[in-house]
Amino acid sequence: MMSNNKAHILLIEDNPNNIKLMEMLLEEQGYQVTVDTNAEAGIINAKELSPDLILLDIQLPEMDGMEACRIMRQEPSLEYTPIIALTAFAMPGDRERILENGFDEYMSKPIKYREFLDLVNKILTHED
Ligand code: MN
Repeated sequence: MMSNNKAHILLIEDNPNNIKLMEMLLEEQGYQVTVDTNAEAGIINAKELSPDLILLDIQLPEMDGMEACRIMRQEPSLEYTPIIALTAFAMPGDRERILENGFDEYMSKPIKYREFLDLVNKILTHED
């Protein structure tokens, strides 16, 4: 569906290189991207913008992505918004822990371009 390329993605990530890379990849696909570099600002924007997808880094300054995800899920407007966890430290059992926390999916960093875009496209296409 072409309209998916107009989807709005909120990226909450504190690493400048990862921001630059993901923003470029997503904008190349036609997605509209909003970036926040900390969880508090990200939660505010998630509520205000109602993005189609949230990419949420687990390792953030002060409040981490796990807590931010739990807070977002308590917000009625964000209960069903797809949220993908981004993490640089993939450990055995992490995926289960992350999904149980309320995330829809999980992507380890450094991201692989094709895998990353396939996941984003898949989630946005399956969303009605
Ligand atoms: Mn980080």
